[in-house]
Order: sequence, then structure tokens, then C-alpha cells
Amino acid sequence: MNYIDPHIHMVSRTTDDYKRMALAGCVMVSEPAFWAGFDRSGPEGFRDYFRQLTEYEGRRAGAYGIAHHSWLCINAKEAENVALSREVIAMIPEFLDRPGVLGIGEIGLNKNTRNEATVFQEHLDLAARTGELVLVHTPHLADKYQGTRMILDMLREDGRIPPVRVCIDHVEEHTIRAALDAGHWVGMTLYPITKCTPARAADMIEVHGTERIMANSAGDWGHSDPLAVPELIFEMRRRGHDEATIRKIVYENPLAFFSQCHRFEFTPRNAAVG
Ligand SMILES: [Zn+2]
Repeated sequence: MNYIDPHIHMVSRTTDDYKRMALAGCVMVSEPAFWAGFDRSGPEGFRDYFRQLTEYEGRRAGAYGIAHHSWLCINAKEAENVALSREVIAMIPEFLDRPGVLGIGEIGLNKNTRNEATVFQEHLDLAARTGELVLVHTPHLADKYQGTRMILDMLREDGRIPPVRVCIDHVEEHTIRAALDAGHWVGMTLYPITKCTPARAADMIEVHGTERIMANSAGDWGHSDPLAVPELIFEMRRRGHDEATIRKIVYENPLAFFSQCHRFEFTPRNAAVG
């Protein structure tokens, strides 16, 4: 089955990963801007990173027939430095009209601090003024519930971005309902440790249905699996879900969310998709 991985950090994966993903049916990825495993020394480090995301990574993906899209922001971890964050946010509009850019992300919270919240709100302001989609990172483990509540409150209080143009990512059993009820899309992240396993993601689909729900690997520089979405396909088939249900989660839903971006274009190379 052809699938889309709507959240994966390919700059930290190998070309062999692209090949294995293509062999497993991947036809598109979207790559949010994130923490690189180290703090950049200044705003120019982000300029180079945004060039990597918007100029180079698409070519590497394209060699394996995978369409590459990206999101731009300063991640929550480096957002503790508000002065640096403001310089990066001011730079983002230079890159927004490049092909493949889907919007602002992954913004959000890491430790739920005041500075992170300030920078999150300033990213929302940029997205509202420029009419961009938003991809939101929610914190890990013990900080997730409170951080998700704070994020949903800030989105509602700002009020300028229609909820359906925002995806709340890394949802788990205790946060998915609130994000869906607020009208947002959600992403379930399939991680070998922490976050959510394929079995837990299948459970959540069985409880909450398939509307506005996506699944991703969030593969990055740490312990993660770029083939996690095919693992979910395998788990859902094992449980007897029909192909249409699986395809909605791993292909049609990400396409529907991305299609709200006025720059989004996608022509499947294989007409017999699915
Ligand atoms: Zn990520």
C-alpha cells in the first residue's frame, strides 16, 4: 500500500532509509523543522537549515520517487532563547513561498515554560498573518497533558487560525480527544520507546475513528524507526481492518490536511495508488 509519512526528519536519516521507505510504499514525506541534537550558534544556522529543507532534501527524496515537503520554525527546545527566536521568526517569510513548504511547524512546547509559550504565540501570529497551516509538537511524557492543554488554550485564545488548519502532533490516549474536540487534526507518533506503539495507535483508531487522524514515525537523529508507518499498516491488517480504513489513515488523511495549503501540489507517480 502506498503511504505518506507526515512527520519525519530526513536530514538526519540516510539515503538508504529513503530507499527502504520507497520499497515499503512511501510516496511522500513532510519534514518539520526541529532541534538538530545541538543548539545552533545563531540565526544564520537556521538560514542554512531552511535552505537544506527547501533546496536540497527534496532532490534526495526525489531520487527514490518520494515527494518531499517541509515546515519552518524555531523548535520549542531552542525557543527558550526568545531573542534568537525572534530573529528566526523574522527570517521565515523569506522561505515561505518556496515549493514544498506547507506552513509553520513543528512549533509547540517542550518544558511548558513562559518563554516557550511566548515564542509559540509569536509563531501563531506569523501563521495567522500569512495564512499558513500549523504543525504543533506536544511535550513528552510527564509534561504532555499540561502542555497540550496550554497549547489548545493558546490556539483558542488567539482565535485567528481555523482549528482545522492546525495539526496537534504526538497525541496519546490522554490528549487525543481534547485535540479532536477542539476541531484540530491530530498525529499519532509511532516510536520504539516513549510516545506510541503501532498497537496503541490501532487501539486509538478503534476508539476514536478515522476522521482527522494521521500516523507518523517522527524519525529523527535519535532512536526511531523510519518504517514505523508500515508497521501500523501491518498491525491494522493483522486486526482485520479493511484496506480502505487503513488507506484513509496513512494516505488520504495527510493528503486532505496538506491540501489546505495553497502551494501544495502532488501528482502520484503510480496511477494505481493503493
Ligand atoms: Zn518532530
